[in-house]
Amino acid sequence: MYHHIKSLMFTVRVDEPDPRFGNMLLEQFGGANGELAAAMQYTIQGINCDDPACKDLLMDIGTEELSHLEVIGNLARMHLKPLKTFNRELAESDPLITIAGGGGVGLHNSQGNPWTADYLKITGELDVDLRSNIAAEARAKIVYERLLHLTDDAGSKEALQFLMTREITHLRAFMQALDSVTSDKLVIGVIPPSPGIVDQYYNDSTGEGPDGAVDMVGPWNSGDSIEVIESPALTGFQVLKATPKSSKSTATKRSATK
Ligand code: MN
Ligand code: MN
Repeated sequence: MYHHIKSLMFTVRVDEPDPRFGNMLLEQFGGANGELAAAMQYTIQGINCDDPACKDLLMDIGTEELSHLEVIGNLARMHLKPLKTFNRELAESDPLITIAGGGGVGLHNSQGNPWTADYLKITGELDVDLRSNIAAEARAKIVYERLLHLTDDAGSKEALQFLMTREITHLRAFMQALDSVTSDKLVIGVIPPSPGIVDQYYNDSTGEGPDGAVDMVGPWNSGDSIEVIESPALTGFQVLKATPKSSKSTATKRSATK
């Protein structure tokens, strides 16, 4: 069950309202990587979760994200308040907020696109969901960081710094949860991948670009366990017929050095 307490998780203040910045803040209110998306994603995953420890984690963080939604919503509202206006010039700066929203926050992103459940990644497979959550926290962190770069308002910075920090806390918690439920991160579901094919790296982008782009070597296309297939589309390499042995004629092993 939910209960609302009449105080924000982090007290917000705005020294100088800035409606344009308020609009940017809506990205974290009703945007793809925003707080409502996070709250709904983790809470619905939590409802689906059969692992008692991870269910508890998902409900804890999902609920905290709702508190973040309230913080960012109040911060955005303070910045947008000048748009509660009959001033034509101000209204023209943001007709959606002024005319449809009356100077308040709505569940849309900074471009006015409505929030959608399509933002949510919910698979019903715990380790897969935890991976989605790690990525979601990383995206939320970087959006908050960008917002921090774009304001000089001290009160706004304090709130955004808090919200950004909590995303790293959540990121770590989801990473630890993933570690606790998986011993091998390449094992997903129950059907194993096809041997041989799983270790092939297709060098599908080749040649030299006008700006000096060349083929590069990294852990993904070097090392003993990786079989590099050069330009498979150009050499007639047929993946479905390939086995680790028969594909050797078109495969080269790369050294681990650059
Ligand atoms: Mn958050
Ligand atoms: Mn978070």
